[in-house]
Amino acid sequence: LGPRMVKNALFTYVRPEITHSPELLCVSSRALEDIGLDAREAETEEFKHVVAGNKILTWNDETKEGIYPWAQCYGGYQFGQWAGQLGDGRAISLFETTNPDTGVRYEIQLKGAGRTPYSRFADGKAVLRSSIREFVVSEYLNAIGIPTTRALALTLAPKAKVIRERVEPGAIVTRFAQSWIRFGTFDLPRMRGDRALLRQLAEYTAEHVYGGWDKLPSKLPAGEASNTHTEIQTGILKETTEGEGLEEENRFTRLYRAIARANALTVAKWQAYGFMNGVLNTDNTSILGLSIDFGPFAFLDTFDPMYTPNHDDHQLRYSYRNQPTIIWWNLVRLGEALGELLGAGAGVDGAVFIEKGIKEEEASELIQRAEGIIDRTGEEFKAVFMAEYKRLMTARLGLKTQQDSDFKDLFSEYLDWLEAFELDFHHAFRKLGAIKVEELQTEERRRDVAGRFFKDDEAPRQEAESRTRIATWLEKWAERVKQDWGEAADADAKRQGAMAKVNPKFVPRSWILDEVISRVEKQKDRDILPNIMKLALNPFDEHWSWDGAEEERFCGDVPKYKGMMQCSCSS
Ligand code: AMP
Ligand code: MG
Ligand code: MG
Repeated sequence: LGPRMVKNALFTYVRPEITHSPELLCVSSRALEDIGLDAREAETEEFKHVVAGNKILTWNDETKEGIYPWAQCYGGYQFGQWAGQLGDGRAISLFETTNPDTGVRYEIQLKGAGRTPYSRFADGKAVLRSSIREFVVSEYLNAIGIPTTRALALTLAPKAKVIRERVEPGAIVTRFAQSWIRFGTFDLPRMRGDRALLRQLAEYTAEHVYGGWDKLPSKLPAGEASNTHTEIQTGILKETTEGEGLEEENRFTRLYRAIARANALTVAKWQAYGFMNGVLNTDNTSILGLSIDFGPFAFLDTFDPMYTPNHDDHQLRYSYRNQPTIIWWNLVRLGEALGELLGAGAGVDGAVFIEKGIKEEEASELIQRAEGIIDRTGEEFKAVFMAEYKRLMTARLGLKTQQDSDFKDLFSEYLDWLEAFELDFHHAFRKLGAIKVEELQTEERRRDVAGRFFKDDEAPRQEAESRTRIATWLEKWAERVKQDWGEAADADAKRQGAMAKVNPKFVPRSWILDEVISRVEKQKDRDILPNIMKLALNPFDEHWSWDGAEEERFCGDVPKYKGMMQCSCSS
């Protein structure tokens, strides 16, 4: 089978392949809760066969009635180049379900369950290796408060021999999200000039994904209006809160702004927690700002802004440092796709133009207006990004208030010495959280405390200047902490408690996932994955009551030569 072009449609009905002797390797207890299932329901034969793609709950084969599974059609820009039609080549959506308690609706999907019309020349399968990685990281990101698609179950398909660089076991991840629509879903009708479909998709996104046109931002919420830290922010907030520049804003502009804001918040969280997706193509960028499609993702080990987890990313396009810029680049492509809808002006919502056809002078006016809206949204994106990044860094460094000087004196200088001395990004926050302000009273003691940021065997790097630099920073930090928390006897304990809730002890780094993969695959270890999930679902906890030594090792220093690993895209 070669590639099949699917025109004038955004999905195709398709059924998962049968998986012989499936083995349910792991279920996320948090995911079960969130979709409203009881833990016992995951222990049935029926559950096992549903998540293996063998039983379609919502379709009756005899009467041919119900909901039939489907795969989505989308395109995308990959590494900056238009790549044409892509689509769900190995993901099949089963049905939607609403949690009765929260009212949140999810689309349940199997990844790796076989070929679809969008598989092009590939096999529709996923290897165990990449499935374990996606399963763990989805649930981890959710646990640390980063919007993400979720993972419910991981199934081993022992009979599926998947050919990559070698023959590997296959697997299926049962995943779910409030929406699987990507920027690439908009790119495809745009590139094909299918204006009616594009408009329908935008309307669907506003009405069904964002919950209605009335839920979209017309101006910034009051809380954010008081948040005036930088010039850019002040400028934007004035413009938006005072209603200037809003007169030409139609409903599609509000949709575009909502999408930009959601993505600004998510990429700010990635930056604050050192997470990299690794392949931020437009087909891997969510319309809801979810972290989505985990391939060669990674967390930073040491703080190196130029690091990319993607082995094939020679340009460093998807490096840590570039992520905010790339998400904005993707948003500009989305703005272009929505162009004529954005440009139509208030009151005229684009429908008129689509129905009548556009005259030349109207078109140039439209384009100009759309460009203005994209530029303005860019300022809003920056402002929302910066406000969220600062909010998170403030909390992670144990502060309660924000001062203009914090960004340069505290955040930047902290990251600079982490980078200069190649210190562990995640441990540094956790170690800072353990420090008591009274320990920082004299220069001598500060220099002592500075030594804690280095690994035990790194004595050579603890030379005098390094300690002095860290000690100087600690002195400034202690001052700020005192300003925010006061000097009462319990101030330290309160701040330490607050820091422990925002600075995870456990981070699913590449070396850990590699070890888990090898133990599941080669040693047939069936305990390690559920155990790692205890850490992934409760990453801020100090102890997990499993094997103390093993837990500490997974939370400890990165073993030699296993830091900052890179991953190939084959999955
Ligand atoms: P990714 O780089 O993983 O986001 O995938 C890009 C595109 O390739 C998507 O349309 C995937 O559905 C498709 N794809 C990746 N791997 C496979 C596979 N093994 N079989 C079919 N399609 C695939
Ligand atoms: Mg993808
Ligand atoms: Mg992928």
